[in-house]
Amino acid sequence: MPELPEVEVLVRHLAPRLVGRSILSVNVCRSRVLAPTSIRSLTHTLRGARFVGLRRRAKYIVFNLHSPKRHSEIILVGHLGMTGRMYLLPCDAPLPKHAAVVLDLDRGKFVFEDTRYFGRLTLDITALGRLGMEPLEAEFTPERFAEVLKRSAQPIKVKLLDQSVVAGVGNIYASEALFRAGISPRIPARKLKNAQIESLWRSIREVLQEAIERGSSMPLAYSGTGTKDGLFYFGRELEAPDTYQEPFRVYDRAGKPCLECGSTIKRLVQAARSTFFCPGCQRSQHSKVRIKSS
Ligand SMILES: [Zn+2]
Repeated sequence: MPELPEVEVLVRHLAPRLVGRSILSVNVCRSRVLAPTSIRSLTHTLRGARFVGLRRRAKYIVFNLHSPKRHSEIILVGHLGMTGRMYLLPCDAPLPKHAAVVLDLDRGKFVFEDTRYFGRLTLDITALGRLGMEPLEAEFTPERFAEVLKRSAQPIKVKLLDQSVVAGVGNIYASEALFRAGISPRIPARKLKNAQIESLWRSIREVLQEAIERGSSMPLAYSGTGTKDGLFYFGRELEAPDTYQEPFRVYDRAGKPCLECGSTIKRLVQAARSTFFCPGCQRSQHSKVRIKSS
């Protein structure tokens, strides 16, 4: 599932290719991904509009467009969901089976493909208003982070996934950041000491930033030289080496030895999501916060 770094890499990839292009026509194959926008509204709004900007907000892709005929600015919001992909194709390329929305541009076409249709491409911007601090922006400070955490009795791992606190931290990077900070995922957020909060704050920024620099394991370019399916999307830059190093220290490593201390990495389920952690490196600091085994 794409997380913040993959979306950031995608936005950086798409921005220079999309900005300046105009939309000639809109083809909606799966209206579900537009909800609550109607096909008619999307088509009417986007036809003739030109992409003027593209940015990431949490795991959303925010497209800014200008409509000359309506003299208005348009915001189009995209989300990859679990399996979404966004990429450009030449005009004459066949459409993929799971194309959800296709925008015919003045040169080429923009494709939003989604095999499971959990993604979104919509004019509805309400989701953006509910988002918390952007973890890589200056607004995310240890002080503001502490303010929110001190009010919560939820386990810190669960709280990190709350998008109204820090927006865009997903399941993978929550586990990774807690490991890097040496904090047990089970500690109630409000029990964290200021030094731990600062360490976690720094770890969140580091794991996200490093992942952006690394790119993901997916090929980025459509040309597809040396890559599996030759498609797309969010992913590493072309010049990245083929030998792709396992980037995670704890995520999806249950049963394997910790790279720091050799203890066996454990998996537990919190709020219906898997958490991976090292019981050696991420001890609960006080007996009081030790969780009863269930
Ligand atoms: Zn360890």
